[in-house]
Amino acid sequence: MVPVSDVALREVSVAFDDVPALEDVSLSIETGEFFTLVGPSGCGKTTTLRTIAGFETPDSGRVEIGGEDVAGVPPENRHVGIVFQNYALFPHMTVRENVAYGLRYRDPPDGKSTGERVTELLELLDMKGMGDREPEELSGGQQQRVALARALAPGPDVLLLDEPLSALDARLRERLRVVIREIQQELDITTIYVTHDQSEALAISDRVAVIADGHLEQVGPPEAIYREPATRFVAEFVGDNNLLDGVVVSTDPPRVSLDPGGGLAEATTTAHGSGTTIPVDGVSDTNREVTLSIRPESLSIVEDGSSRLGGSNGPITLSATVETVEFMGDAYRVHCEWQGRELLVKTDADEPPSGTVTLSFDPESATFLEAP
Ligand code: ATP
Repeated sequence: MVPVSDVALREVSVAFDDVPALEDVSLSIETGEFFTLVGPSGCGKTTTLRTIAGFETPDSGRVEIGGEDVAGVPPENRHVGIVFQNYALFPHMTVRENVAYGLRYRDPPDGKSTGERVTELLELLDMKGMGDREPEELSGGQQQRVALARALAPGPDVLLLDEPLSALDARLRERLRVVIREIQQELDITTIYVTHDQSEALAISDRVAVIADGHLEQVGPPEAIYREPATRFVAEFVGDNNLLDGVVVSTDPPRVSLDPGGGLAEATTTAHGSGTTIPVDGVSDTNREVTLSIRPESLSIVEDGSSRLGGSNGPITLSATVETVEFMGDAYRVHCEWQGRELLVKTDADEPPSGTVTLSFDPESATFLEAP
């Protein structure tokens, strides 16, 4: 039977010395979900995790695990497994002893003996044959696998991972995050993962919560966070982006000018002949300031006279100058200047572009945000 192990935070606030670390945070994490908290240093990710684990007590609001309010339940009785950034293995215990330590409060699941359970976990984490080593005889990645095995030993309902990969080098981080994701799926265990690395968050999660300054900016599947950022903060924090400030110049039909002076931009739409502004859905006030968020891969460099992008409103074209080109292996990152503003373009062209270029984008690929 799959345990009911959904996790909910209901209007949780936590402060340290009257300084708020979390303000009114509400989250619902489903059973079996891989849920990631991402945000810059100091935004409250670890505090959220420690509050779920029972190491911090909310000043207001409540935490529920499996539908039960866990106020007053000590960490060891919350049936959560925790892995921290710094492994926290006991240096003078062997790998087997370290994993067995995870069973100090609870018996192994399914009537297994401690020895059987430890063997099973070492196999799961590809650490068979290393049981008699001490932590200093292991690489950082292996130590973190032991920490994961220890956290999983009692068969917790919920796994909490606090930046488990941040002490490892980039390549190992990428490998181990796949291992974590595979094990999470194999065990179907509700997992809450903390990272400041937005690309890691997008790569392995079912859903992501972006946190800034103790509050939630956006919660959703990785694709939605990336493609439809809800706030300027999310648009800037997650992935490369171009943010262009503009102003609504007409509402029927709704259009936005990107010209710094608020007048007509040089943008032209081929579908509308001499149209000079960008169509945008759902804007009702003229003169309102908005920010256009457009991903570098949504901008393309077109040859003059070539066919344009599709889209019901026709593509927008901009005449820009190439300033710097970075070769990334699978693409070029092209830094362009358009009307005194930098635009980043990602292109898989065979040759690096140079000089004056025409940039094109489908307005439907852009997101409009409230201006700051
Ligand atoms: P990082 O990525 O740097 O670990 P984080 O997003 O996990 O950051 P938290 O550790 O949750 O952030 O901290 C949130 C805020 O609460 C920060 O301003 C931090 O300084 C403060 N804070 C956290 N723990 C304590 C504590 N025990 N005492 C005082 N302030 C604290």
